[in-house]
Amino acid sequence: MTVRLVNGSRSFGLMKGLPMIKELVRDEAILSTPCEPATIEDVAVAQDLVDTLLSIEDGACLAANQIGVTKAIIALADDEGNTLVMFNPKVLFGMGAFKAEESCLTRDGITKVTRFMKIKVSYEELVDGKLKPRKRDFVEWPAELIQHMCDHCKGKLI
Ligand SMILES: [Zn+2]
Repeated sequence: MTVRLVNGSRSFGLMKGLPMIKELVRDEAILSTPCEPATIEDVAVAQDLVDTLLSIEDGACLAANQIGVTKAIIALADDEGNTLVMFNPKVLFGMGAFKAEESCLTRDGITKVTRFMKIKVSYEELVDGKLKPRKRDFVEWPAELIQHMCDHCKGKLI
């Protein structure tokens, strides 16, 4: 399934040089730590997250603690390499609960979860070197990815 993400770009334009591809973290002590709020100081982490996500074949999403940084930053990518980075994402509400089985890049096996088909998310987005608050609705596949990523930010093992 193709995920179309608007406002996405390969790079924030702030970081120069080669992509910084980080090793994925499977340490449950790190992955189970609730993430701290992210700030503008964490832009370099967001860039590493995007670079690492785009280096993973069929990688659709990644949270900062999966590269070892316990800050609430997530990144999503579509099939064309467009990315959307969210600082401090929160699911405000969801509609249409359904049961899902999810696999994770940093954990073995399948986890049974309940997800919402449609969600409203608040987050911050980097615009012109500043974090701007956003609210946006997502449905279906991107919505499920975001719920999975928000679980990572809470330190849930999924
Ligand atoms: Zn995961």
